[in-house]
Order: sequence, then C-alpha cells, then structure tokens
Amino acid sequence: MLCKIIPEKCIACGLCQIKAPELFDYHDNGLVKFKDSNTLEEHFSEPIADTLLEAYQKCPTRAIELKK
Ligand code: SF4
Repeated sequence: MLCKIIPEKCIACGLCQIKAPELFDYHDNGLVKFKDSNTLEEHFSEPIADTLLEAYQKCPTRAIELKK
C-alpha cells in the first residue's frame, strides 16, 4: 500500500501518531513525517495495513493519502 503525506495540509493535531506511532512522527514544528524517513511517500506491506488505515481515517484534513 502506498502512503503519501501532505505536510501543507497537516494541522499538527497528533492523531496519526497516536493511532500509528510505529509509522508516523513529527518535525519540530509539529507537522507530520514518516517515523524513519524524510520522504513524502512510503510503501507499507499488509501486516501494518489496519494501523495505517486507522491513522488515515482519523486525519481530519486528509493530509494522509492511501493508494493500493
Ligand atoms: S492526523 Fe493529519 S492533521 Fe493530524 S498530525 Fe497527522 S497528518 Fe497532521
């Protein structure tokens, strides 16, 4: 599953990291980043798909996008 983050849409609410702390983290200004990289797109495999989906659904601004 391809996950894309759009920092310009992020309001630093923190929900994605609460739902998926193993996947998401924040820059010093509070905007979303992937935990282990500074890229804006990451491919994730099935075992974490449910966690990722939950974070995606909780994001209030659609700053997280998913594609199969
Ligand atoms: S849930 Fe969305 S708006 Fe909130 S910190 Fe994560 S990416 Fe940003």
